[in-house]
Amino acid sequence: MLRFRSLASGSSGNATLIEAHDGTTRTHVLVDCGLGIRQIEARLQNCGLSSEQLDAIFITHEHCDHVGCALALSQRFGVPLWMSAGTWRALGAPASTIDLNLVRDGETVALGDLQLRPFTVPHDALEPLQLHCTDGSTSLGLLTDLGHVPPYVLEKLKGCHALLLESNHDSDLLAGSSYPPFLKRRVGGTHGHLNNEQAAQALQALLHEHLHTVIAGHLSERNNRPELVQAALSKALGCLPDDVPYCTPAGSTWYKV
Ligand SMILES: [Zn+2]
Ligand SMILES: [Zn+2]
Repeated sequence: MLRFRSLASGSSGNATLIEAHDGTTRTHVLVDCGLGIRQIEARLQNCGLSSEQLDAIFITHEHCDHVGCALALSQRFGVPLWMSAGTWRALGAPASTIDLNLVRDGETVALGDLQLRPFTVPHDALEPLQLHCTDGSTSLGLLTDLGHVPPYVLEKLKGCHALLLESNHDSDLLAGSSYPPFLKRRVGGTHGHLNNEQAAQALQALLHEHLHTVIAGHLSERNNRPELVQAALSKALGCLPDDVPYCTPAGSTWYKV
């Protein structure tokens, strides 16, 4: 059985816990770690977990809302850290005793009952990766931090039973915001973040009869509103706006995949 829970989502920090459970053993992977160590530990504790129980921390890219305390947590508790070589370089490849594992687009990482299949995305980071995760029977797609959705990304996530999908901003709110012009260009650009319409289009392309759970994530606190996200995604899903769940900065509840 596969399930996941956002522990933090948005520009102030991102972390998602994935659990695979085969009846006897449980595998836990933390995807991104973009909070302080006390906050991460408190949120893991809410899930009945301690840091030592993590089987791996997977960092999608070097932006601080994703890296947070990952290196300290990995070092302190001996948790293996996974990321791309580019992300490690962007972090300055610090000399340390961390259990570091490098992975690239197209490879498979097997951790207990969980298989992670990272793929690259268009984002303004050195070598960003997003994830397809499966326990062999169901699959989860994690897709945030990308400026547009190329066909190969849709191909990687085809057939997923659950999705955590970026719906970062509303284009009009971003255009009218107090952000400086360079930041508006960055966020709204082809290597920035998905707006609500782009998220809805991606969702439409990924719809199939076994996709049962879609959660919107990485919502901008300044340039989006949950009701705008729900309006856009509900159109693609053909459901009521209130039936579209979204992650708050404090995360979400558990979702079964
Ligand atoms: Zn981010
Ligand atoms: Zn980013």
